[in-house]
Amino acid sequence: MTRETGIFNRAFLDWNPSASVPRIEIRYYPYATLTHTIRYRKSIIKVRINLLFKNAPSDVLEAVAHILFSKLYQHRTPAEALDRYHRFVEGNQHRFRALLQARSNKAPALIPAKGHHFNLQQIFDRINRHLFRSRLVMPSLGWSRRAVQTKLGEYQALRQAIVINRRLDSADTPGYVLEYLMFHEMLHMKHGAEIRNGRRVVHTKKFRIEERKFEGYAAAKEWIRRMTRHPEWSRPPRDF
Ligand SMILES: [Zn+2]
Repeated sequence: MTRETGIFNRAFLDWNPSASVPRIEIRYYPYATLTHTIRYRKSIIKVRINLLFKNAPSDVLEAVAHILFSKLYQHRTPAEALDRYHRFVEGNQHRFRALLQARSNKAPALIPAKGHHFNLQQIFDRINRHLFRSRLVMPSLGWSRRAVQTKLGEYQALRQAIVINRRLDSADTPGYVLEYLMFHEMLHMKHGAEIRNGRRVVHTKKFRIEERKFEGYAAAKEWIRRMTRHPEWSRPPRDF
């Protein structure tokens, strides 16, 4: 019995104390997001764990098992398991990113995430935990080298990077504006692009609907609208 099977067998019994343990097949799978799946079919439980978790400590795999069983049985996830899981993801984001970039061979130059007023990594972690259930692997995060006037932020899919306009690293910027911009770029990571009539569409209807769920959406949009009306913005920012 592998370590993983032992962990999942024990977790199964926690959820079904009087049942006999069925066959549980566990595979590591190279999902692009931090996804893990469970299916129950023909008396076999099939589990796929993200390959990035291959050498995770046993208590973390145990947390994954409880999260997956709670999904399978449509039951609330035990808070303790969820918390252990989130802490592991946040503590390993640099390692995950390095592994994914080694796989894709497109590591960008590192740009510091910590600015004078805001730390983009802290903002990313917070939003990933609360709005993406820690599913996103942290991309390279950084402030633009120059305070460009046409973009507030962008997601560079090939380089796996989110770049935020350096001008916003200021005491005048409300925290919710940066959180909104980060959330917007993270939605690009989640949704990718659709091809429609031969054109690449990134702000799809689904994207826009989900974007509006952000709590400070209206206030952030309004702040950005007023800020970019200033003449130093030679033209309205295209995408952010
Ligand atoms: Zn966008």
